[in-house]
Amino acid sequence: MTENKIREKLGGTVFNAIRHVADVNHTETYVIGGYVRDLLLGMPSKDIDIVVRGSGIEMAEKVADKLGGLKVAVFKNFGTAMFKYRDLEIEFVGARKESYQRDSRKPIVEDGTIYDDQNRRDFTINALALSLNKDTFGNLADPFGGEEDLRKGIIRTPLNPDLTFSDDPLRMLRAIRFAARFKFNIEEHTFQGIKNNKDRIHIVSRERVVDELNKMIMGEVPSVAFKLLEITGLLQIILPELQAMKGVEEVNGQKHKDNFYHTLKVLDRIAPNTNDVWLRWAAVFHDIAKPVTKRFDQKLGWTFHAHNHVGQKMVPKIFKRMKFPMNDKMKFVQKMVHLHMRPIVLSEDEVTDSAVRRLLFDAGDDIDALMTLCEADITSKNEAKVRRYLKNFKVVRRKLKEIEEKDRLRNFQPPISGDDIMKTFGIGPCRQIGDIKAAIKESILEGEIENDREQAFRLMMKLGKEMGLEEQKHDK
Ligand code: ATP
Repeated sequence: MTENKIREKLGGTVFNAIRHVADVNHTETYVIGGYVRDLLLGMPSKDIDIVVRGSGIEMAEKVADKLGGLKVAVFKNFGTAMFKYRDLEIEFVGARKESYQRDSRKPIVEDGTIYDDQNRRDFTINALALSLNKDTFGNLADPFGGEEDLRKGIIRTPLNPDLTFSDDPLRMLRAIRFAARFKFNIEEHTFQGIKNNKDRIHIVSRERVVDELNKMIMGEVPSVAFKLLEITGLLQIILPELQAMKGVEEVNGQKHKDNFYHTLKVLDRIAPNTNDVWLRWAAVFHDIAKPVTKRFDQKLGWTFHAHNHVGQKMVPKIFKRMKFPMNDKMKFVQKMVHLHMRPIVLSEDEVTDSAVRRLLFDAGDDIDALMTLCEADITSKNEAKVRRYLKNFKVVRRKLKEIEEKDRLRNFQPPISGDDIMKTFGIGPCRQIGDIKAAIKESILEGEIENDREQAFRLMMKLGKEMGLEEQKHDK
């Protein structure tokens, strides 16, 4: 991007205000980090980081004033302040110098120059800064060759990678995330630095790790990040269950597929169809129990018996360790793992109405998510097979729609309640109530009666009579 073009891009209202305040107060001021990187890449960004020589908080307040008295959020402990302007988020900080002690994870932070501030950034491409002062407006401060790395597509630490990653091991995940997002390569020494320091990821809080993983999983082609996690050795530490899926075994000349790469294919295939981070995690975990259920049977070959069941049980353990939410999101992922084979099995045979009804009943409101997962799960190399499956899936989807319209099974509520049964036959709580309710549900799922109160009532009367129950006549 030419210098004129860069100056043009820094010509908006916010930058004009910052420029004005910087000049009036003679404050050295730069826009720095991700915003500059994205600007040079031609990608618009909404997060603007401003670094000043002096107090970031004072600068933020003055600029906010100039923009019409905007509300400033001040974080005194961090020496930062931010405000929002339209859809932009602008954060101000005083330039800092950071030094880490070997025996402490907390850096010593002092006031510093802009160069000091660039020095503490994680990657050359993230250390770029553009001047916002009058005489130097739009000049690029690039002490580590970040612009060239951007052009070449390289992730590189400005300082010794071992030091950079050891000081804050989260940077290892950030390197991988940026490499995946921009389709960049991680420079050789930087890559080796990650391998050397992988074990230090333990000292990073789960929350920060998960935050990075979620960003990776929400990428356009998330498999790239997971493959990098695997080859750096980080996956084994963070998600050993996923690592265990890698590899192919052979017995009697029969191999099973590599479930790690299959899983990554499923993840990439689901990515264009959902922005639900939990559905993407469900794709990651759908076959998670394959390693622990794997057997070789002389007749059947490789089997992964009940891996959906076992996988469903593994999910809470993983969620707990990762500090994922142990709530309905977890239940959703469990449900996806449990049911992930149902639509496929169903579409292998003739698609019967009753099988579709049962699927709809079990999946409830999550039926669309389940179908999205299952479609992504079809990764066979055999094209004819894939075509057949996808064609059958169309039939399943059509039937789901028809049956849903007719029987409304998504959020099935029994058309006859236990209370109805007790009142009708004048009985107290007993087993027969459960039996009648179960029989009514079965009849609906089998398609013998519709999901309709009148039809269910008639069946209840018939079943009650067969059980020797008598209808109670109520006096008018
Ligand atoms: P994104 O587009 O993902 O937000 P970003 O680079 O803007 O990318 P932020 O986390 O917002 O990411 O960080 C802003 C800037 O702060 C980075 O560009 C980098 O210069 C610096 N930074 C962030 N985290 C670290 C870290 N762990 N170590 C060193 N520098 C960091």
